[in-house]
Amino acid sequence: MTKVNTVLGPVATDTLGKTLMHEHFLFGYPGWSGDVTLGPFDRDACIKAGLETAEKIKKHGVATFVDATPNECGRDPAILKEIAEKTGLNIICASGYYFEGEGAPAYFHLRSQIGDGVSQIYEMFKKEVTDGIAKTGIRPGVFKLASSKGAITHYEEMFFKAAARVSKEDGINIITHTQEGTMGPEQADLLIAEGVNPKKIMIGHIGGSTDIDYLMRVLEKGVYIAFDRFGIEGLAGAPKDQRRLACLIGLLGSGFTGQIMLSHDFVNFWLGRPGVADIVSLVLPNWKPTHLFENIIPLLKKAGVTDGQINTMLVENPQKFFEGV
Ligand SMILES: [Zn+2]
Repeated sequence: MTKVNTVLGPVATDTLGKTLMHEHFLFGYPGWSGDVTLGPFDRDACIKAGLETAEKIKKHGVATFVDATPNECGRDPAILKEIAEKTGLNIICASGYYFEGEGAPAYFHLRSQIGDGVSQIYEMFKKEVTDGIAKTGIRPGVFKLASSKGAITHYEEMFFKAAARVSKEDGINIITHTQEGTMGPEQADLLIAEGVNPKKIMIGHIGGSTDIDYLMRVLEKGVYIAFDRFGIEGLAGAPKDQRRLACLIGLLGSGFTGQIMLSHDFVNFWLGRPGVADIVSLVLPNWKPTHLFENIIPLLKKAGVTDGQINTMLVENPQKFFEGV
């Protein structure tokens, strides 16, 4: 029996059930922690918002939530643990850093000048997977890797190589961020060349591209892909859901159902000064953690996608992914 680390400990993969593969109970762009005078962290409000969202998605049958928050963007395993304990939701947390342009690259840039960067990141990943994050004892279930628009920078490549080493040794799965859907084949090639099982790789945010030939080229690497930004429409290079749906339906009709997973990349609680959530909900009215169930799945069904295919994307593929098959 294969198991995957959740914030409450290892869980059998055949009990994961309906899974959202890329979401965030909390997220802050690096820099938020410098604005604590005007935006102090309200832990209680964050937990309350998390509990409300967990209950909402559970009503749609969701049993597992992959929290993809990178280490330097406010990752907080203790909060995730509290939400999991109080709701019964399986929460899988990540280890990894965000892409160079929107993450916090200065730290490992410096470290890589005083020693081998890949080795030092490997040590961090290995320690978190083996002993847990900081002193929480909570172990990540996935590595989160990210690259830039049109490039995997030298800085980003260090994380790919380090994660590949630990994935080979400990079987930890890898989920990625592609910026505007770019560099999917290159991410897959890099990880596979480093020895990672393609079936343990999920190339994320791939729905940022609406080029069907490109999407098929990623799938032909043998990896999983995720249409994991439903509801983020028309902003920062993101296509409208209708265009993503056209691609998704085309791929489902072309025999790729067994390699596709779904999510929203929803941010449930923004770290830093208040106000972001209000603006976001005005600009992106469909971006909510129930959008898939309320709006997208009905449209898929209308297009002829079967209940079986939807179950494959939400239940069977996440299980297979964590089993590496
Ligand atoms: Zn994300």
